[in-house]
Amino acid sequence: MIRATIIFGSGAVNKYDETGIIPKDEDIDGCIDVVEFRTEAKMRAYCKGLCDADGWEKVISLDPVYTQTPDCDTCDHWRGFFSDKEGSVYCPDCGKRLDEPCFEVVTLNGHEFNARTLNVEGELKGSRISTETLNDMLLDDEGDYISEEARQVDETIKFYVPVDKITLPDSQLAAYINQNMK
Ligand SMILES: [Zn+2]
Repeated sequence: MIRATIIFGSGAVNKYDETGIIPKDEDIDGCIDVVEFRTEAKMRAYCKGLCDADGWEKVISLDPVYTQTPDCDTCDHWRGFFSDKEGSVYCPDCGKRLDEPCFEVVTLNGHEFNARTLNVEGELKGSRISTETLNDMLLDDEGDYISEEARQVDETIKFYVPVDKITLPDSQLAAYINQNMK
């Protein structure tokens, strides 16, 4: 599943821009909406709808967070059927990506970020990976951790990748790290 957090209204957006913390509905002029989608296509359609609809002076959507999508009755059948295919394949009945990685969710400052543990052979085996957006939030302007919690999170993460890479299959994510981050 894909979870998107959207902040509506200039009061709420400005407060978020200032503090980096997602404001609570009752403190702000605006509102926060968290919506879940089964597929990327559905999320894109929703975001396009938001842009077209307008009505709020300001709207921002935060980076989406990926969570496990439950199998439908036929996912297993299609997984077998497509097992010799290279690249990502999707269940024709429910749209689930059949090689979906095991996404974890890390929370800091009210934000959610994705993390995952690489299941590949070689030195990256078992490495925990997260996103640059999490890395950017860990430190303050002086380069100190924003909290003890932030320090503890950082200790568990070996590499921070651009947010659009966190959904790659294990082997491609490992290849990206080997080529770009060593
Ligand atoms: Zn399915």
